[in-house]
Amino acid sequence: MSKIAQKQELERLKASEKAGKMNLHTHSFRCKHATGDIDDYTKCAEEAGLRILGFSDHTPLPDGRWDYIRMNLEEFKEYDQAISLAQSNYPQMRILKGLECEYFPEYHPFYQDYILGECHFDYIIGSTHFFSWKNKWKTAYEVETPEQLKQYTDNLIKAMESGLFLFMAHPDVFATAYLNWDANAQACSKDILEAAEALNVPLEINGLGFRRSPVGLIGEKRYPYPLASFWELAAQYNISVFCNSDAHNPEDVGKNIQDAINIAEALKIPLKDLDARLAEITSTQSSAT
Ligand SMILES: [Zn+2]
Ligand SMILES: [Zn+2]
Repeated sequence: MSKIAQKQELERLKASEKAGKMNLHTHSFRCKHATGDIDDYTKCAEEAGLRILGFSDHTPLPDGRWDYIRMNLEEFKEYDQAISLAQSNYPQMRILKGLECEYFPEYHPFYQDYILGECHFDYIIGSTHFFSWKNKWKTAYEVETPEQLKQYTDNLIKAMESGLFLFMAHPDVFATAYLNWDANAQACSKDILEAAEALNVPLEINGLGFRRSPVGLIGEKRYPYPLASFWELAAQYNISVFCNSDAHNPEDVGKNIQDAINIAEALKIPLKDLDARLAEITSTQSSAT
């Protein structure tokens, strides 16, 4: 092995070790479909050997939309304070303040000026859990037709174009109900990956999919996500990833991160360095204002 190759291998190993001790996707009881509070997750993270823990509960929305799966705006300050308290109680751990956010243009000022600006949150994650469909909302877990898949994809790409997000959560979540890797799935995945490359937005390999019930026909069962075909295609693009547990209960805070890293490493998809990404996003946001 040449000196350069040795150095690269060493850097790769360091990045891998660092990624294995980091989870940036963590919820709390406030979203109404998770259990445990900030302190419970932090304790479990410490037991699991994590060094970096980012909280990213589902964002409250100023108009109260979809409030049955997120905190209300009135709870936000208390969430913020609970994380501040953990930061002072666990100085040995790097704890970050974040939120997982749906992107619609009407919320852009709320995220940019209030959450990241006034409240000084460290990061926000972009997710498409909902998209508009025939004057109603459809969820990303209900994508069944090519037209719905296209709508999901357009929403996700608009979110990337906003320049607000540290990374995009589970871009392949559409595969929960859209079971076939057909021409439409391939075309939409290409669009997502092309946008991620062009806009320099990392994607997430999400560990929660490993803990969900398998989907598909008997004999062809697979995890709803991560979707192997999607990530094999992703390896052909110049993109990078974050690997997270997406914990909805404290015991899961360190779970399946390594499984997600294994996918990235098997396909040689680079793991994004957190500090490098934080620096990038700060510079994009300050040049946008
Ligand atoms: Zn959730
Ligand atoms: Zn989540």
